[in-house]
This record gives sequence, C-alpha cells and structure tokens, in this order.
Amino acid sequence: MPELPEVETVARGLRAGILARRLRTVDLLRPSIFHADPALLAALPGAECVAIHRGGKYLVLELQASGGARWHLLAHLGMSGRLCLHPSGAARVPHTHAVFTWDDGRELHFSDPRRFGRLALAPAPASGFAPALAVAPGAEPLEVSEAEFIRRFRARNAPIKNALMNQKLLRGLGNIYADESLFRAGLDPRARRVSRPRLARLRLAIRAVLRQAIAAGGSSISDYVDSDGQPGWFHLRHRVYGRTGQPCRRCATPIRRIVLAGRSAHFCPQCQRR
Ligand SMILES: [Zn+2]
Repeated sequence: MPELPEVETVARGLRAGILARRLRTVDLLRPSIFHADPALLAALPGAECVAIHRGGKYLVLELQASGGARWHLLAHLGMSGRLCLHPSGAARVPHTHAVFTWDDGRELHFSDPRRFGRLALAPAPASGFAPALAVAPGAEPLEVSEAEFIRRFRARNAPIKNALMNQKLLRGLGNIYADESLFRAGLDPRARRVSRPRLARLRLAIRAVLRQAIAAGGSSISDYVDSDGQPGWFHLRHRVYGRTGQPCRRCATPIRRIVLAGRSAHFCPQCQRR
C-alpha cells in the first residue's frame, strides 16, 4: 500500500508533469471509484492545474476553472492505485478507472486493480483542504513539532505501532514506515505508554526514514510505481520490514514477525526494547 513517501513521490512527479497545464477532458470509466456527484466533473474541462498538495496519503490537485472557481480533485491510491502520465493515445492497462487528458495531449491514468483507491471532487476552500473530502486529521509527520508529537502519543494505551498507523494521530504512516521508524528508534512495536525522551527520538527516526524513502522514490513492495511508471528503491534499504528470519543489519539477531491488532509487525528483539 502506498504510504507517505510513495504518495509524495507521485505528487512531485505530477508537479513536474501537469502543473500549469489545462485539463482538456475527463473520462470517468468506473463511476463507483468517484466519491462525489459525477455531474461536478463537467466544471473541469478548461481548468488549469494551479497546485498539487499532499496531505498524509492523499493527493489533491487544485484546479482553477476559466471562470475563476477553484476545485480540489482528491485522489487516494488505496492498496494498488496508480496515477501515471502517458503520451497521447497510450494503451489503457486493465483496471484503468479514469483518464484526464491535458492540453499538451498527455493523459493521466488512474488505475487500481483492487479498487480500494478513490477520487473525489469538491470546491476548494479559502485555505487548506476541503473538509468534505475527509482528509485524515492527523499531524503531518514531517512538520509536527516535538511537543505536539509527544502530546499526541504520550499515555496511549495501544501498542505504539498501532498508534503510529492511526491516521487521526499522524497521517501518512502505514506498516512499512511504522516498522522502519520503530527499528531506528530502538522501540519494540508492542511498547505502550512510551516515555517523552523515547517519543522525541521516535519523531526524529520517523523524519529520517521518510526523508530517506522520499529521496529513494519510495518502496516498491508489491506494485507501486511513480507517475512515470518507475519503481522506488527504498525497500532495498529496509532494516526490518519484509525481512522475517533474516539477520538484523545491526546485531545479526533474526528479525521477528508478529501480528499486532491484525497487522504484521517486523522488529529486532535485541535492538528494540519495550
Ligand atoms: Zn538487532
């Protein structure tokens, strides 16, 4: 599932590809992935892409119609969603659910075999994201202050791994980056009521992991690719995620996998403490 670094990589690719371009046509091939009134799409042809935002795992294309009205087109990639730019008339892969054609002829294809992804559209608010789009209210991990991070996670009774993936507390982390951050912070995923100094260290570990992953173009575990169809490379640098039974890169103890609240957690029993 694409997490913050993968969505950020797609956002950067789209900024390079479609910013300041005008939308020519929108073809919604599978209306069920569109979580808004499809009649709203009639407002979009001719609109200019004036900004591309990312909030957690959400992408927001800000579009300004010729009459001045601004719209937020929201995309969530779900488990297997892709937003890829193609030359004019490119073949559509199976499970292509929407095609956005720009004034230079290029096409943005939204495809998603597993169909957990979605698109939505709403008028842009004066600032921030449209509340109607239900962007997760959690803090941005690359922006949250130490005090705010500690306030959100101190005294949590849930295992820290589950708290990290709670999008109401922090948005953008999933299984991969929660596991990798906990390893770098030396924290067992089952730890509860984590102390302030350890939370401060965890926040720094999350920032470091996310920055390195963004620089590597994200992790391509199953089928993630960026907006140019290229995989990321950060999975080659994972220290625990997907490495069950392999030696810890720091101490050579075999990496363990446990199930925590229905999700797998990978960790080093030697380097990570409760
Ligand atoms: Zn270790």
